[in-house]
Amino acid sequence: MLNKNVSRREFIKQNSLTGLSAVITPSLLTNSLSSPAAPLPESLGPVLLTSSDKPALLGGAPIRLKGWTTWPIWNPETDEKQLLDVVRSGIWSRSAVTTEFEQKWAQALGAKRSLLVVNGTNALITALTQLDVRAGDEVLVPPYTFTATVAAVLATGAMPIFVDVDPETFQIDPAKIEAKITPRTKAILPVHILGLPADMNRILPIAQKHKLVVIEDACQAHLAEINHQKVGTFGHAGCFSFQNSKNLSIGEGGAIVSNDDSFMDRCFSYQNFGNPYNAGVGSVSVGSVMQGTKLRITDYQAAIGLAQLKRLDAQTTTRNENAAYLKAQIQAIPGIVPYKLYDDVTRAAFHLFPFRYQQEGFKGLSRDGFLKALRAEGIPCSSGYATLNNQPYLNDAFQSKNFRKAYPKEMLDFRGYVEQNQCPQNDKLCNQEAVWFTQNMLLGSKSDMADIAAAIEKVHKNADQLTKLSEK
Ligand SMILES: *Cc1c(COP(=O)(O)O)cnc(C)c1O
Repeated sequence: MLNKNVSRREFIKQNSLTGLSAVITPSLLTNSLSSPAAPLPESLGPVLLTSSDKPALLGGAPIRLKGWTTWPIWNPETDEKQLLDVVRSGIWSRSAVTTEFEQKWAQALGAKRSLLVVNGTNALITALTQLDVRAGDEVLVPPYTFTATVAAVLATGAMPIFVDVDPETFQIDPAKIEAKITPRTKAILPVHILGLPADMNRILPIAQKHKLVVIEDACQAHLAEINHQKVGTFGHAGCFSFQNSKNLSIGEGGAIVSNDDSFMDRCFSYQNFGNPYNAGVGSVSVGSVMQGTKLRITDYQAAIGLAQLKRLDAQTTTRNENAAYLKAQIQAIPGIVPYKLYDDVTRAAFHLFPFRYQQEGFKGLSRDGFLKALRAEGIPCSSGYATLNNQPYLNDAFQSKNFRKAYPKEMLDFRGYVEQNQCPQNDKLCNQEAVWFTQNMLLGSKSDMADIAAAIEKVHKNADQLTKLSEK
């Protein structure tokens, strides 16, 4: 009975990871036992002996019946004291524990300053507005990202302009940036998507040449590095998310990092009603010095963050080791093209483990068919993001009064916009090729990675049968 309750709780917990949002369907996060696609073999014993080569989708035994490392991780012995201290102190709003987290986060990245706010989306909005990205400006963004990146740009009144991706790395393609720069371009917003670093050493000189602001969306890239320098510290500002699914999880939370004191002072004021820098919570008579809003985090959230931060470095090492191992195990399988890292990347964050699936290597088995077969083997997986550069939310913003006042009519013609913002490489990733495993799977053992590789091998070996099944 107790076990049943626990596993139900685990199930709900896993299914409430919202950072990947709608793209992660419940079937990704359920294992094969509860997946309707994978009927439980009548009797595990004999089936395991006789049908281990038969795809689980066709009634064979799944490669894996065990679950995966659950996320987030909470260790009562080491994690609860500081949290309880905060709760019992009654100082629940932003205070000393938040400041401590900010100092430790800045230190972990080698940045001068860090500011904690309610979430990564608002970290981006704060950074954009305090670098004076406003209505009438254009911001260059990759289309291969979580929707929050573009939502943040639209929230400032600026116009997102999509730059296609390099499919080998899944990152914004630096070779395609300059063609998108216009007199309105104010900023480049590279995203270190999936926790793999974008090519900052090529992006920064372009920004310099055209006097553009660079804001890094590092919401998936905690502790990732280029030449031993942490991502988020290359541009004018770096933004992080501590949402439940992210590699450092607080539930909800975000941070801005920068070496620019006056910028960080403004960001601080912005998240606290525009009150002077460092005005305490509850100040009512200090006077606002600038336009602001309220994005304050709480000290009990910061206490959870401090507990998670202690593990982040070791977890990052484990993810890197397991990702390299898994990549080596699967890269020779025809039709599987794992991610590539740029040469100067010294560490990735691997919020996700991505590869490209090419159905030619699998006897024409569709990506959906592949994902279904893999899930049936006990391997959760996802097709990742939908295309962001052609969705109705853009038109909704374009029709708003603010946009109509800030841009000429031609710029707000949705069909024309979609035409000019085509990203064929991204379309292929989103609609045909991308496959992901989530970061928590990379916290397991080498034998967990071997299970993933064995399942892909098995699907490959049986591609003929599976293609026939999926065509039925
Ligand atoms: C999660 C995420 C965000 C937004 O962070 P929240 O904390 O969820 O608001 C922005 N960009 C990317 C790439 C993300 O993955």
